[in-house]
Amino acid sequence: MNVDIAARVHGDALARGVLRRYGEHLPLTPDMPLISLGEGDTPLVRSTSIERDVGCAELYFKLESCNPTGSFKDRGMVVAVAKAIGDGATALMCASTGNTSASAAAYGARYGLGVYVIVPDGKIARGKLAQGSVHGAEIIAVDGNFDVALGMARAITSRHPIALVNSVNPFRIEGQKTAAFEIADALGEAPDVLAIPVGNAGNITAYWRGFIEYQRLERTTRRPRMLGFQAAGAAPLVSGEPVADPQTVASAIRIGNPASWTSAVEARDASGGGIGAVTDDEILSAYDRLAREEGIFCEPASAACVAGMLKRAAAGESFAGQVVVCVITGSGLKDPETALRAEPAIHRVPAEFEAIEREMGWA
Ligand SMILES: *Cc1c(COP(=O)(O)O)cnc(C)c1O
Repeated sequence: MNVDIAARVHGDALARGVLRRYGEHLPLTPDMPLISLGEGDTPLVRSTSIERDVGCAELYFKLESCNPTGSFKDRGMVVAVAKAIGDGATALMCASTGNTSASAAAYGARYGLGVYVIVPDGKIARGKLAQGSVHGAEIIAVDGNFDVALGMARAITSRHPIALVNSVNPFRIEGQKTAAFEIADALGEAPDVLAIPVGNAGNITAYWRGFIEYQRLERTTRRPRMLGFQAAGAAPLVSGEPVADPQTVASAIRIGNPASWTSAVEARDASGGGIGAVTDDEILSAYDRLAREEGIFCEPASAACVAGMLKRAAAGESFAGQVVVCVITGSGLKDPETALRAEPAIHRVPAEFEAIEREMGWA
């Protein structure tokens, strides 16, 4: 490890993080520093109202939005960046719909690595663009979708000593599987159903791996059914064919040709689960309900798994007696455009308490 990195890693022990908590389950080598921005250990919060409509015994939300950069990407990024540092890389690159770049930018800034992100021009939620920008990443916008951007990132990193930190990097998947460990640790057993949004399909792959490993270690006695949900306009795993021009309000899952296609299908089939599609209207309706009834402000992609569970229940599927976990993958603050898609209802009154009370109906 070079001296500069040693100085930066100094003090990371207190943050604990994924590498320290779950290092025994990760492919760590002596070259990899135990870095952390405090990722992982996110809350598992019980539903107050959506649980009733799904008709299950218990419904929980795994709040991955509580990670340091506001999405689950940090769990895998910390492992991929430790590996990159261990290998002596001085720069990171990723293609991104926004959250991977936000995470790479934060870890890169902290550990003194250059960060290059390739994004589809004009298709990145404002909050995510802000994150990449404030952390000082080089943001390269291309006139193509995510799948095109990933092709570019693969080509460039194969030609230079730059670490590719997309989920095609196996260390990303390894880190992300720790969320399954946390769910099983919190519940004392694997849930009956794990509901998750699916874009590039790295995360459904990672959770499935985590649940398999925990069962092998006899930390749990069973595995969940994996229920993945894609946006209807970007649902290649539902149609069985790549989508050339994916479209959805849920920008984090606007992906037409998932890199982890095969392993997602395997997780679906081996678990007796399914991958379904939800429309943008269904996503936004679940997004509004999460905010107004559950107190959870997530990004549209995250709401896709809740929309999907409501849709399956409404179509007559019974979840009676089952424990369900929905993965809330990212924070609503990342996508203010969607939050403010309708003009917010603001009451404008003079700064006089009587006027405010009248407006409140409490006069
Ligand atoms: C990356 C991301 C997804 C999709 O995860 P994949 O591993 O690409 O399937 C879903 N939601 C959010 C908020 C994300 O950042």
